[in-house]
Amino acid sequence: MTTPIATSLRDLIEGGPPPAGRFGPYGGRYVPETLMEILIELERRSVELLADEGFLAELAGELRDFVGRPTPLTAAGSLGEAWGVALFLKREDLCHTGAHKINNAVGQALIARRLGAKRIVAETGAGQHGVATAAAAARVGLPCTIFMGAVDARRQAPNLERMRLLGAEVRLVEAGDQTLRAAIDEAFRAWVADPVGTYYLLGSVVGPHPYPWLVRRLQTVIGEEAREQVVRAGGLPDVAVACVGGGSNSIGLFRGFLADEGVELLGIEAGGRGGEGDPHSASLARGTTGVLHGAMTPLLQDAHGQIVETHSIAPGLDYPGVGPEHALLRDLGRARYESVTDREALEALRECSAAEGILPALESAHALAGAKRWAGRNRGGRVVVGLSGRGDKDLAVLADGAHHV
Ligand SMILES: *Cc1c(COP(=O)(O)O)cnc(C)c1O
Repeated sequence: MTTPIATSLRDLIEGGPPPAGRFGPYGGRYVPETLMEILIELERRSVELLADEGFLAELAGELRDFVGRPTPLTAAGSLGEAWGVALFLKREDLCHTGAHKINNAVGQALIARRLGAKRIVAETGAGQHGVATAAAAARVGLPCTIFMGAVDARRQAPNLERMRLLGAEVRLVEAGDQTLRAAIDEAFRAWVADPVGTYYLLGSVVGPHPYPWLVRRLQTVIGEEAREQVVRAGGLPDVAVACVGGGSNSIGLFRGFLADEGVELLGIEAGGRGGEGDPHSASLARGTTGVLHGAMTPLLQDAHGQIVETHSIAPGLDYPGVGPEHALLRDLGRARYESVTDREALEALRECSAAEGILPALESAHALAGAKRWAGRNRGGRVVVGLSGRGDKDLAVLADGAHHV
């Protein structure tokens, strides 16, 4: 008998799109009628392409030659010794453009080209997804428009310049809060205006179905590689730890170990400054279920359903929602989610940089801080951390903002 909705771990391990686009009560497709057919068609064609040997060979070739995969799994001996565990870092920081986001951007850009799209649109907050999308669009030869809030553009000037150099047209959004949320609204609008010629390249495992599934499928390469590498290095880990913004690098890592019951899955959200009443971005730990950007999912909202102010020192974690699959993994008890503060993340970033010669992104530093806390409870354990990106983009914050934390 088939269940109409994915509600068990077994359903999730299957790997195909979840029936009805739902992960238990989460997910779905809350979009205007004009987009419904486009999304159904996108699901149908993605399923087809991701089972097509020719397409999979093309994707594998781009991941190898353009992105730089497989990324290494680095044994972090000094840091592991300091924390009392065997520590391994999955090095997504070594991907082209500096983070895991390019895995998804390249995969979707290849799909867009196969679908016959005339241009790619995307939104960006801090600019990391915009940079990855601009690079991938250039690679497949499609023009690309990136929507970015005017406030974000001022805060992230180097990424604005990168996107332009990579050939993207960057549209500054002066409406609304002039940050990520307004940029998403504008990108959606551009898509609705021309849903056939335009491909909307979403950056994380959020949004309406099929994106949470599609982006997860394209990021699963992280976990597949990591599992093989850590087994070759002596055996399965006790825990896999990754940071959770929208949830794409973490779900990508977790998927590699989902069927390994003995491997704990630990997601780390942004706790912000950590004081009573301070804004944070811990949607899974402290959110309530509602609809945002086309999906039902845990959100940071007030009693009237208004999105509340969020904060993280890591721009990539500063999002009021989270991927629906994480919400189901949480409810099933298969994954656990904790949060760490800005300060804990910064401390872990400094420790990792000095001990290992690896400067992690502020986002990835949250995963490290979570791993350190886990190590405190589990001396002698074996730990894989998803190092989602490199910290070069964070130098300005690290140089002059960090002492305000
Ligand atoms: C964007 C970003 C994240 C957060 O996004 P997820 O979808 O949760 O992975 C994490 N780390 C880095 C380096 C990022 O750029």
